[in-house]
Amino acid sequence: MYRYSVLRYIIILPAFWFLLSGCATKEKVSPISSEALKKLHPLPIYTPIPAPIYTVSFPYRPVRDIEARIVIPETFSASETAHVSSKHKGLFDRSSRLVVELPVFGKEAGFAFPLPGAKVISPYGKRRGRMHSGIDLKTCPNDTIVAAFAGVVRMSKRYGAYGNVIVIRHQSGFETVYSHNVKNLVKVGEHVSAGDPIALTGRTGRATTEHLHFEVRVNGQYFDPNWVIDFQNRTLKDNKLLFVKTGNSVKITVS
Ligand SMILES: [Zn+2]
Repeated sequence: MYRYSVLRYIIILPAFWFLLSGCATKEKVSPISSEALKKLHPLPIYTPIPAPIYTVSFPYRPVRDIEARIVIPETFSASETAHVSSKHKGLFDRSSRLVVELPVFGKEAGFAFPLPGAKVISPYGKRRGRMHSGIDLKTCPNDTIVAAFAGVVRMSKRYGAYGNVIVIRHQSGFETVYSHNVKNLVKVGEHVSAGDPIALTGRTGRATTEHLHFEVRVNGQYFDPNWVIDFQNRTLKDNKLLFVKTGNSVKITVS
């Protein structure tokens, strides 16, 4: 009799644990079609932006760099709110060089790992002959994505292969991108602090699993997020980034 009741717990307890651990059970579900996903998580209808220009101002002091000159107030044109890759008006007007000291920037704009507890499931760089412009982070579906740094939302909409995407412009001059979201929680022009919830993880756009595709860009050009964030320890790197505008592109070096 005693042996049977012990046996029962051995069977029942793991079953309870399995049911209660949401991420574990959700990840085991075989992929569902995007149509079925839409029914499960109705997406907000994207309404075209009514005004052509958004004027926002950064409440933060300029980043202390050798040529600190982030344009204040900041304005977003219709094109800036419509495309992930967008030139940053005025960023290189006074000098072709921009220096961002990450520890200084982090102190002023704060820092939060964009998907707390996430693991890297696909690195930045060449992937199956194509360039992977960001880094893929995974926890579980519908998990909360947070702003990595304080800034202003430059774009929040559905955008081709990116699916539901958010772009945040930071006072350092670079931007962070959060893509494949099942739901965006912030709108263009909204000010966010580091750690503020901005979206929920999904697989909208071109994605085979629920995850966060995270990018960093300057003047529309993506660069290696590993230069900014230590993805193993989920901390801000101690780096100094130098952006030099040459013609239409930006050369980025790290020290
Ligand atoms: Zn990706």
